[in-house]
Amino acid sequence: MLLENKKVAIVGGGPGGLTLARLLQQRGVDVKLYERDTDQHVRQQGATLDLHYESGLKALREAGLIEAFQQSFRPGAERVTIVDNELTVHYTERDNEPVQDLSNEYARPEIDRGLLRDLLIASLNENTIVWNSKFSELKENGSGWDLVFENGTTVYADLVIASDGANSKVRKYITPIGRLYSGVTIVEGNIYNAAVNAPNLWELTGGGKIFAHWDGKTIILSAKGEGSLSFYTITEEPDEWIKTSHIDFSRREHAFTWFKQRFSDWSNDWHEIFATEESYFVGRPQYYFPQDQSWQTIGNLTMIGDAAHQTPPSGDGVNQAMLDALELCDTLFSEKFTTVHEAIASFEEKMLARTSVATEKASQLVEAMLSKNSLQLFLDFFTGVRAL
Ligand SMILES: Cc1cc2nc3c(=O)[nH]c(=O)nc-3n(C[C@H](O)[C@H](O)[C@H](O)COP(=O)(O)OP(=O)(O)OC[C@H]3O[C@@H](n4cnc5c(N)ncnc54)[C@H](O)[C@@H]3O)c2cc1C
Repeated sequence: MLLENKKVAIVGGGPGGLTLARLLQQRGVDVKLYERDTDQHVRQQGATLDLHYESGLKALREAGLIEAFQQSFRPGAERVTIVDNELTVHYTERDNEPVQDLSNEYARPEIDRGLLRDLLIASLNENTIVWNSKFSELKENGSGWDLVFENGTTVYADLVIASDGANSKVRKYITPIGRLYSGVTIVEGNIYNAAVNAPNLWELTGGGKIFAHWDGKTIILSAKGEGSLSFYTITEEPDEWIKTSHIDFSRREHAFTWFKQRFSDWSNDWHEIFATEESYFVGRPQYYFPQDQSWQTIGNLTMIGDAAHQTPPSGDGVNQAMLDALELCDTLFSEKFTTVHEAIASFEEKMLARTSVATEKASQLVEAMLSKNSLQLFLDFFTGVRAL
């Protein structure tokens, strides 16, 4: 095999990196994953994720983890209700049968991000993940690389794979192509114990998701398995707005003041989101890499997931990252290639073609969300009248 007696280092333990570590380890590769978090439980792990049959679920099937997924996903969490600014329901899947059958290619089963991470971590041999390893620098060393971490350690690897997300520190060693601003900023939040702290909105989710669209603004609510309500707004804002507006989103009252002004044409029923101290809010400008990006392959260094091809927000990034992991592993084990360099070149060519399409679709989705007619566009999409 191409990776026989080679040390592989993965930088970043998100869905992409963890899936790749599992797939490589299954095939006997000597792999370590370096993650900046100090341990598995240190951070909030965001909202729920829907995995797709042909990408995220496909990677889990190949990784032998579909039974573990079956134990952790939340049937019914995929059901969507579409409302307007006044919380009037225009479409709901609340009475649909919850997804159970993972072999149905149209299923979009939902899992809490933290549970997906946990099941991937549990699938790895002990000590595969080296926690508290914030990558800072790469130095060439013979036919491989020395990876330098902020904690002062340096390790050698023959092949380095970056999966350190949208703010990748490894990417610059592969290409100088930078990110572009998508025009939208997300304000993300989480309301703990939502049945008590935001009872009306919690009830409206019915254990699933609310998509609220009105006049070019969007709010998405998702019920999480541990009883919290994840929340995010998607609005058109200038680049650098998070810095220039001087709004401290970590302070609930500041976030609320902003919301009341920016969503002044939305009903006060939405204010329940800001009623409790048991919550957090954070602003996230959304960037993406150009649709036509490409680079010269380096034979011992590549990247996957958001590090390689972050798109405007579209709810498909985890699926693309996990599919990258599967395709990279399969390519490295394909008998078609005689060198790692050839295998990586082939993988990158396919990945860039696939994710260029994903970027185009994501841009169309954002355009629909920012349209004055956004509610009708999403209703037409969900009722099968037309694509977005
Ligand atoms: C609000 C929001 C909602 C989203 N909802 C969805 C959704 O519903 N469905 C979907 O498919 N996608 C969704 N996405 C997109 C999705 O989160 C990303 O596309 C996906 O997480 C990318 O996976 P990744 O493994 O490439 O990177 P990440 O998940 O970003 O993981 C990167 C990892 O690298 C680590 N890391 C970073 N820097 C370093 C360093 N210097 N050294 C070591 N480790 C490092 C990080 O700690 C992290 O663990 C959403 C994104 C946002 C912001």
